[in-house]
Amino acid sequence: LKPIHVIGGGLAGSEAAWQIASAGVPVILHEMRRPGVRTDAHHTDGLAELVCSNSFRSDDWEHNAVGLLHAEMRELGSIIMSSAHDHQVPAGGALAVDRDGFSQKVTARLEAHPLVTVVREELTGLPPEDWDNVIIATGPLTSPSLAEAILGLTGEEELSFFDAIAPIVHAESIDFDIAWRQSRYDKEGPGGDAAAYVNCPMNKEQYDAFIEALITGPKAEFKEWENVPYFDGCLPIEVMAERGRETLRHGPMKPVGLTNPRDPLVKAHAIVQLRQDNALGTLFNIVGFQTKLKHGAQADVFRMIPGLQNAQFARLGGLHRNTYLNSPRLLDRQMRLKAMPRLRFAGQVTGVEGYVESAATGLLAGRLAAAERLGHPLDAPAAHTAIGALVEHITGGHMAGSKFQPMNINYGLLPPLEAPKVDEAGVKIPLKERGRAKKRLMSIRALNDLKAWRDAA
Ligand code: FAD
Repeated sequence: LKPIHVIGGGLAGSEAAWQIASAGVPVILHEMRRPGVRTDAHHTDGLAELVCSNSFRSDDWEHNAVGLLHAEMRELGSIIMSSAHDHQVPAGGALAVDRDGFSQKVTARLEAHPLVTVVREELTGLPPEDWDNVIIATGPLTSPSLAEAILGLTGEEELSFFDAIAPIVHAESIDFDIAWRQSRYDKEGPGGDAAAYVNCPMNKEQYDAFIEALITGPKAEFKEWENVPYFDGCLPIEVMAERGRETLRHGPMKPVGLTNPRDPLVKAHAIVQLRQDNALGTLFNIVGFQTKLKHGAQADVFRMIPGLQNAQFARLGGLHRNTYLNSPRLLDRQMRLKAMPRLRFAGQVTGVEGYVESAATGLLAGRLAAAERLGHPLDAPAAHTAIGALVEHITGGHMAGSKFQPMNINYGLLPPLEAPKVDEAGVKIPLKERGRAKKRLMSIRALNDLKAWRDAA
């Protein structure tokens, strides 16, 4: 069998290579890091190096979407999950690892596999034409020469070098006794919906207090190499607030063209708008609210917005150096570049976010690539599974017309279920515990679907 080439030996590339070899297909893993060559964030030449935190986040598969992703990956023989298990350190309900032991384990297992060849070299342009089955998993810090070559294929609009993320809220946590749905001047919004936006009104006192909180809230510092050139459309909200107390009222919080149905004669002093973020309608992003406020402060500040006082955040805001594709336009359901299907993408470069999510897409890309090589192509699992939901997010589930933003796994990406009112024994579930019970049902559904997909492959 001809080998499959995997470019990048990070979280996604290591997992992809492992899955390919486990399917009995030879794989060549190209990693540019070697003694003397690093990225701006990596410190070693180990495969699957964790560049920052040593945590894979919650391991609770029943009530936490990333825990569910762990469980699905374990079902599929993930090298990242089993190596994490072997090098686990105490972290309460989270899965945290000894980063060196973990990376050394992944490296040793891949190097010892008879079907894996690890080559320490940088791919500086598009892969040679005779590499007919390639996975590019070069991450948020894809080397500049390769990024340039990808840009040549995709066009400038379709590859970002920074993410400017506005917070994303679970729709069910918005208080619609205060907020209402309406597009500015009732114009059609994304998806052709004249009520595509959710509006949260503020009076003058609320606005002044909010601006004060934005200006005084603690901000995250950029690392030197991470410096983001502020350009139109990605100015952090607190930077706008610092430019003048009225700036936001004339920018993303302008109160014009909107009428509060509960108070039609009173003009709001400012209005915060949220826009539907996924096709399911379970997630909304706060329009224009990209921010460098520290994560710990964001929830408190954004819950000052009337209607969002109980907001649950699927994703907090941020502004980072991050190379990622406009995947919903560029990739097919097989995670292949539509313009050059011999190239598959995986990991953070596809617009997922986080170690686990990156490894999960690497896992799937590896399985899809190996199945293709073996002559019996495979469909991605259904969006009811966490892995399927991630792939759906990057290849289609994102709301057309809204800027594609990187995303962690969360239950809002999975098709919703009714919150159960009684448990399996028929006992009534208290109202405040129903959300948790719903997550558990969604997790059980996901794992069952995933096992069925695996067994049918
Ligand atoms: P990576 O793990 O970065 O792997 C990509 C690999 O490709 C690297 O080994 C790189 O050397 C190699 N490579 C790049 N270009 C080429 C080339 N042309 N040829 C050959 N090899 C190449 N996520 C979290 O969950 N928790 C965190 O705490 C966290 N902190 C982060 C901090 C920073 C500074 C950054 C940049 C990201 C952070 N992330 C964090 C996100 C994290 O990068 C990703 O979650 C994860 O590492 C991405 O996995 P990946 O496999 O896509 O990319």
